[in-house]
Amino acid sequence: MAAEARHFKYVILGGGVAAGYAAREFGKQGVKPGELAIISKEAVAPYERPALSKGYLFPQNAARLPGFHTCVGSGGEKLLPEWYAEKGIELILNTEIVKADLASKTLASAAGETFTYETLLIATGSSVIKLTDFGVQGAEYNNILYLRDVQDADKLVAAMQAKKDGKAVVVGGGYIGLELSAALKTNNFDVTMVYPEPWCMPRLFTAGIAHFYEGYYANKGVKLVKGTYASGFDADANGDVTAVKLKDGRVLEADIVIVGVGGRPLTGLFKGQVAEEKGGIKTDGFFETSVPGVYAIGDVATFPMKLYNDQRRVEHVDHARKSAEQAVKAIKAKESGESVAEYDYLPYFYSRSFDFAWQFYGDNVGDDVLFGDNDPAAEKPKFGSYWVKDGKVVGVFLEGGSADEYQAIARVAKAQPPVADVEALKKEGVEFATKI
Ligand code: FAD
Repeated sequence: MAAEARHFKYVILGGGVAAGYAAREFGKQGVKPGELAIISKEAVAPYERPALSKGYLFPQNAARLPGFHTCVGSGGEKLLPEWYAEKGIELILNTEIVKADLASKTLASAAGETFTYETLLIATGSSVIKLTDFGVQGAEYNNILYLRDVQDADKLVAAMQAKKDGKAVVVGGGYIGLELSAALKTNNFDVTMVYPEPWCMPRLFTAGIAHFYEGYYANKGVKLVKGTYASGFDADANGDVTAVKLKDGRVLEADIVIVGVGGRPLTGLFKGQVAEEKGGIKTDGFFETSVPGVYAIGDVATFPMKLYNDQRRVEHVDHARKSAEQAVKAIKAKESGESVAEYDYLPYFYSRSFDFAWQFYGDNVGDDVLFGDNDPAAEKPKFGSYWVKDGKVVGVFLEGGSADEYQAIARVAKAQPPVADVEALKKEGVEFATKI
């Protein structure tokens, strides 16, 4: 006989960044014991996912759980499993939901349990795109690795130990590719990055920005192979990868391959049950979906970006945190007949590797205006880019800035000041922002 459904007033489906910040906000707003459950297929309480491609892979003093549970990434309290227990928030871990029926407000797990709710927060995040998804020859060989969760990170650490000082090929020139190439190099691997685009991270970087990072990586000894991609792999008798075959005919020896070619929002459980847009679950400015009482937060949500009068989906940690807080505030306000302001998000992305760190705020559209010294060999690199559209600054990127300067570029991206003279803007550089 099937077990009885477990009922919760609120269920957060997913146990990642958005889930952790939503739980903290429920804690702040007041939640009674037994009212809230987090259902996650991961084995651990919510944690700060960006740590996996950074501190987790350090050769010394590597970050490990419980050190980076949410909400330490934004300077907040570290929510350990005990915190959830004290609040009476159920952490239902190792539990994959395989069926969701929004009409009957029921979720079913792979193990056959059922859960019902009054309010659902969908926080399923993204899954990595795998080369096996496209049938790339040999993509299933051992030591061809991906990175999304702690389990993946542990596999990567084990492979780095097993193939010490070996050859690593990193497939993909985006965030993950750049951060993991740096991590592997720091661990003394001979690293080659491969990507089809003319320069790294083309979704954000201009040619001028990429000039710095590509030169910097090359100076660190990372080899860059551009304009081609991995079309197959060779392996030894044990099935361990030994080489990456490139589309242009070249072959790169490899003991480890790491693939970072993008992610896909995990919305499949809700197909046909809820409105979608731009590949995500469509929400309003309070993260409520087309189904009343069902909210979507983090990577899966396509929400109104007030600043640009547009609908966007954002796969970054800052939005995961803020969307979670906004949704919980809206849920609680609705219950008490109050109201909250609509989400008014300013896009913010960042990265750091080796000795560099950058931040970006706003929108990278229009004409880009490079400023500062983007010489990769500079002793103290400091440069950036403005994006100017319709005579206004709409986005700013800065490498090597101070805390005040980063705050200044955020202000500028939000205020969108007019620019009369682009040459003067280029000359002024970050000073233009700090004056505003
Ligand atoms: P996630 O944090 O991915 O959480 C989703 C959760 O849902 C997971 O626990 C997952 O297991 C669970 N889940 C999914 N489906 C089911 C199911 N059917 N049943 C049960 N549970 C399920 N962003 C930045 O801005 N800066 C960075 O430096 C940065 N670095 C990153 C490094 C790495 C390695 C990765 C993978 C991402 C990085 N990101 C970074 C992106 C950022 O981490 C994500 O945007 C953020 O985690 C999104 O939060 P989320 O809660 O929507 O999804």
